[in-house]
Amino acid sequence: APDGIQFTAANVDSLSQHFPACMSHLHRSLRRDAHLKHYGRLQYTLFLKGLGLNLEECLVFWRSAFHKITDDTFNKEYRYNVRHAYGDVGGDTNRRGSGYSPFSCQKILTEHPPGPGEAHGCPYRHFDLENLTALVQAMGVTDRSVLQGVKEDKDHQKYHMACNRVFEHLHKAEIKKAKDEGVMTSNQLETLVHPNDYFKRSYILKNL
Ligand code: SF4
Repeated sequence: APDGIQFTAANVDSLSQHFPACMSHLHRSLRRDAHLKHYGRLQYTLFLKGLGLNLEECLVFWRSAFHKITDDTFNKEYRYNVRHAYGDVGGDTNRRGSGYSPFSCQKILTEHPPGPGEAHGCPYRHFDLENLTALVQAMGVTDRSVLQGVKEDKDHQKYHMACNRVFEHLHKAEIKKAKDEGVMTSNQLETLVHPNDYFKRSYILKNL
């Protein structure tokens, strides 16, 4: 996580302003339904873990987010999977005790496409244009040329380009400032290919 960031269950809502579309959609779905299906929970849990949310806070986060169910149900059906993602329980890939790595865009784009009622995946790839446009608008993009660019990127199956286009638009002033002041070099501003890097860069830019 970026230096100085205090990542707790209580500030996930405010930090979600820095999320890429995939995680923003998971977060919105979770807040709307007080539930996410298995693969969405895994994609989101590993993202949060990669940002520095510790296991204890992550359990608090999921427990309070699933507010329609009892403690008993939560403990029986959900607690284990969160602990497993952190490498707190389970064998094989978890041997070293750190659990699974946060998913890259490549993995999210190509593995486990979401089925009905599932909120994981990459919206630039897995949403239809109408739903994608609504999500991107909810993230703060109203500029018609950006929305048109997103459509064209999607049509050409350039999902990363669409995501980076939205990032650049939402951080236009900050990117200019970072370049002008030499705080970030072009290398540090190259194409984003990981949701966790999207978050970190957004957080750093918005807190310059
Ligand atoms: Fe998430 Fe990557 Fe898709 Fe952007 S391109 S929405 S970071 S999976």
